[in-house]
Amino acid sequence: MSALLELRGVHAAYGQTRVLHGVDLTVEQGGVTALLGANGAGKTTTLRAVCGMVRTEGEVHLAGERIEGKATEDIARRGVAHVPDGRGTFMELTVEENFRLGAYIRRDREVESDFELMFGYFPRLRQRWKQQAGTLSGGEQQMLAIARALLLRPRLLLLDEPSFGLAPLIVQDIFTILRRVREAQGVGILIVEQNANLALDVADRAYLLETGRIVVSGPAHEIREDEQIRRSYLGY
Ligand code: ATP
Repeated sequence: MSALLELRGVHAAYGQTRVLHGVDLTVEQGGVTALLGANGAGKTTTLRAVCGMVRTEGEVHLAGERIEGKATEDIARRGVAHVPDGRGTFMELTVEENFRLGAYIRRDREVESDFELMFGYFPRLRQRWKQQAGTLSGGEQQMLAIARALLLRPRLLLLDEPSFGLAPLIVQDIFTILRRVREAQGVGILIVEQNANLALDVADRAYLLETGRIVVSGPAHEIREDEQIRRSYLGY
């Protein structure tokens, strides 16, 4: 495996408020990296730094190319899809319209067959095809947001708290699908999660962020099994 995404000494700030203080982080090609940490640690900001949504210093490499300082749309075109917290679906539009928007920057003719692929992952979305996204359940909206992001055929998928506000069974479904997606599509995933257990289960690497600094990093299974880390940082 080689590095798909590499952050080196990344600082980020909102105006005068400095939030990230030199974050180093890697996502391997086809790998899953979990970014864990308490509320306000800077996890969402780290994802924003990758997709050019916050003022950033330091280096962000995507497949060997520097992308820091580039426009969000340019970064999306280079293969970075972002599923923000709060889901990022267009509530007023139907499932079909959300799918078509997801694929809007693609010029290939395989979009329709990718729709079928998404129905394979998320069969409920086929049943909801003509329904407004705003009328879907929370779980279905999260599925739609992930499907929409995958329709970009990204190299890197950024997921911000996909389990947030969802019932445990739906969360299990979503994580099962993420495993399948990773295997089938070979996409690299950077996932921010409050649910550390679940994230460590699906990830191969993990980082723990505390007030804008990485305090622990390593193979996910080692972090999961380290009782001291669990007790000190993960609260279980
Ligand atoms: P959460 O799980 O609560 O989303 P997080 O780890 O994702 O936490 P961030 O959302 O990255 O944390 O926020 C990190 C810090 O940056 C917080 O102190 C937050 O108040 C601040 N912050 C976030 N967004 C903005 C903004 N747009 N303007 C100013 N400060 C912000």
